[in-house]
Formats: sequence, structure tokens, C-alpha cells
Amino acid sequence: MDGQFLPMSEAKISVLDWGFLHSDATYDTVHVRDGCFFRLDLHLERFFAGMERLRLAIPHDSQTVAQILHDCVALSGHRDSYVEMLATRGVSPTFSRDPRQAENRFVAFAIPYGSVANAEQMRRGLHVAVSERVRIPPASVDPAIKNYHWLDLVGGLFDAYDNGAETALLRDADRNIAEGPGFNVFVVSNDLLSTPAHGVLSGITRRTVFDLCAELELTCRAEPVSEDALKAADEVFITSTAGGIMPVTKIDGVAIGDGTPGPLTRRLSDLYWQKHTDPAWSTAVRYP
Ligand code: PLP
Repeated sequence: MDGQFLPMSEAKISVLDWGFLHSDATYDTVHVRDGCFFRLDLHLERFFAGMERLRLAIPHDSQTVAQILHDCVALSGHRDSYVEMLATRGVSPTFSRDPRQAENRFVAFAIPYGSVANAEQMRRGLHVAVSERVRIPPASVDPAIKNYHWLDLVGGLFDAYDNGAETALLRDADRNIAEGPGFNVFVVSNDLLSTPAHGVLSGITRRTVFDLCAELELTCRAEPVSEDALKAADEVFITSTAGGIMPVTKIDGVAIGDGTPGPLTRRLSDLYWQKHTDPAWSTAVRYP
């Protein structure tokens, strides 16, 4: 923060920061697995594109941010880490209500790696509830700009817990499936994969699934996914930097396929983790 490296417990922002008061911020999260960043270039690209769209400016270029991320991980010593870079609108020195007067802030941090699904859920598959909540529509907040507008997602999580599920999928305004708290979703039917096309974050893991499908000569499409198609699928999985490719085996109490993680999900997930040692997609952290 502000050119300093600090222990996490000392990293604090002003309560007047618009990032905190108005969710006026964008961020990105990349992970480090066994000492290597995965697809860091794509995360940096998305972060800088988001800042541009929100008219946020930080005093660093992409290469400098990359160096700061390397330093955060190296100083923390983590070999498996969840690494976040974020830009907030900041605070106006004169308490102005004009966002142009605020001094934008850049923060980056590295914490131990965490996953949407725990080890038990990875083994048996997640239990998901389809929420009645509509994901904030793109006409209001563009989900392609990674953001902290999570009240709909957090509400969906509480609804899911109330219904005995472990996480949630929200719909879009057309009642098609959109995304969940921190993840995209894929359905597999007759060896064809599909994932919602609009109203979702263009996840880097989602993009990686498209790349892996191309390599495996599998057909994968971005297209509307109805609730019926989701529940009738042979396999369902979710994707996130926080966990990779994670099986879903129950939706609203109904088993997906035979109720166990499907073969394509397993194959893609294994290949996803194998790719973490491929120099085309991974960058070794510059530890001291
Ligand atoms: N959708 C939302 C709302 C997210 O917050 C995230 C990640 O945090 C994703 C999807 C998955 O994106 P990625 O694969 O880049 O982690």
C-alpha cells in the first residue's frame, strides 16, 4: 500500500474510501500454485481494462504491478497463494462528492490459497441451490468489470444455506442461469459443454476451460443456459481462480447425472492443474 510492504494486519484503508463506502473499485485475483503464478498476463490485462472502464488511474504500469505481486508473494513466503490487486476510487481531500476529485488508490496483497470447494466437496461434488435472486443486470453494473457488488451473491449464499445447500447460482433477468458467488458455471450434455454467454464475469478459469476444450477437441459454447438444461445435464461444474474446476453433483436437492463428479469434469480438472507447470501459462515467483 502506498509504496510500502506491510503485514496484512497493518494494511488498512480509510473508512471514507469510496471503494468501501460505494463499492467504487475494481480488482483481480490471480493464484500461485507451488511457487508459480497461473496466467498472470490475463489477470493483469483484465485488471487494467476494468480500471480504464471505471476511469480509475494508478501510478503503475502492468509490469510494475506484476513486480509488486511477485514481491507480495515472495515477502509472504507463500508457495500457494491467493493474490489480489485492487484499485479504489479513494478519498477526496476536500470531501467533495465529485468522483473526479478523489485520489485513486492501489493495493495488492497475498494471502494463503483458498478454494470455493473444500477437499470433501471436491471429492463428492458441491450441493448448489438456484437462487430466486437476479444477478445485477449488465445494464446496471457490467459484470465483465470485476467488482465488489456482491449483495445479490451474498444474499444468494444465505438463501442456499437456508435450503441446505452449500453455494448458489443466480439467474439473469431472462431467468437463465448466470453465475455464483465467485464462480462461472458449465453444463455438459452429450459431451457438449456450454456456459452462460452474457451477464457474467469473463472468468480466466472459464477462458481456460475453452482453451482446454480446444486442446481436447471438445465443443464448448457460450450460450444461454436454462435452469432445465442445468438440472438435466450429465455433468455440471463451476470455475474460479479460487479452486479451479469444481464438480457440482446436486442442484436444489436433485442429483446431477449419477450424483458423482463426472468423467469430463475430472479430465478437465486434472489437465487444468497439470497446466500449472506449463511455461506457456505459468510464471515462477521471484522468491529471494
Ligand atoms: N464470477 C464472479 C462474480 C467472480 O467474482 C469470479 C471470481 O472471483 C468468477 C466469476 C470467476 O473468475 P476467475 O475464473 O477469473 O477467477
